[in-house]
Amino acid sequence: MKAKVSTLRIVVLGAENVGKSAITVRFLTKRFIGEYSSITDHTYHTVWNARDETFNIEITDTSPHSENVSDYHQNVSREDGNAFVIIYNVADGATFYHAKSEVERLRRNPNTSHLPILLLGNKTDLEHLRDVSVSEVRQTALCYNCKLYEVSAAEDFQAIHVAFRELIAHAIVIDNQ
Ligand code: GDP
Ligand code: MG
Repeated sequence: MKAKVSTLRIVVLGAENVGKSAITVRFLTKRFIGEYSSITDHTYHTVWNARDETFNIEITDTSPHSENVSDYHQNVSREDGNAFVIIYNVADGATFYHAKSEVERLRRNPNTSHLPILLLGNKTDLEHLRDVSVSEVRQTALCYNCKLYEVSAAEDFQAIHVAFRELIAHAIVIDNQ
């Protein structure tokens, strides 16, 4: 019998403009607005029902402009999540390498090395401009034990919902071990 997890903290990371805020807002509201303020980190709260249980979920949408950026690597609020979403833009290879370095950093840290990570490619509506190799992403996800999805915050809510659902399900299992 699984114990109830009352709060699950999800931290959303990734390079600037990959769509961290767009993905977070899409997940929370089903809407795509287009432009998002990214001056500070934002923590949102939502309720998630899985089977007969209710979970309080906190999602922190991080911003490189946040005051926290100076002590980014020590930052407690960003490092004490139960689960991480690391986003790259499929049309910008540099953002994938940024995401990969975030994954490596979390896997090296003993506090986060075992926690679930969702590696999330965004902007698949820009597939014609793809700059990130699918096989390289798959290899990275396999190597660092990450869930992997590619989505478009602009065009599709459902895929984002599915990706988060898998991350949350996995986080719940880990929390109960
Ligand atoms: P953040 O800096 O990572 O939080 O990125 P934002 O969420 O602010 O998004 C950066 C820009 O990318 C904005 O202009 C968004 O409208 C745009 N954007 C976000 N998601 C998508 C997407 O799926 N497709 C396209 N084409 N643009 C997107
Ligand atoms: Mg943002």
